[in-house]
Amino acid sequence: MATLSSGAKVTLRGYRELYGSKVIVGELQAEAQMTCRRCLEPVTVVLESSIRWGLVFSESEMQDLEKDMDPILVEEGQIPLRQAIEDELVLLLPIMPMHESCKSEWISDTESVDISENKSPFAVLAALKNEQGS
Ligand SMILES: [Zn+2]
Repeated sequence: MATLSSGAKVTLRGYRELYGSKVIVGELQAEAQMTCRRCLEPVTVVLESSIRWGLVFSESEMQDLEKDMDPILVEEGQIPLRQAIEDELVLLLPIMPMHESCKSEWISDTESVDISENKSPFAVLAALKNEQGS
């Protein structure tokens, strides 16, 4: 669905907060190749996020974590950093990837429409509507 086109750039700092709880903060930046939902051409999506992870050592500690932090469960003394980064990147992927300025134009020729006095633009629209309806 999406391919990471360049290695994710991650800067992380770990420090202790009040009562000795461990926190990791940092910045995450990566690029992903996705398909534009408008023109169906490849589009490069920049993924950026500020990281604020709180290390927890059990499921119950997750409940106590401050709400502005994402819990990282430390298992057997290992911080699953790689997993956490991948999870973060997946969350950043847009559901509807699109080019910022997308060549979505699908009629490139302009056609002049002669709207005479007895044929109002609304009449033209009505005629179009009838055509589609039949
Ligand atoms: Zn596009």
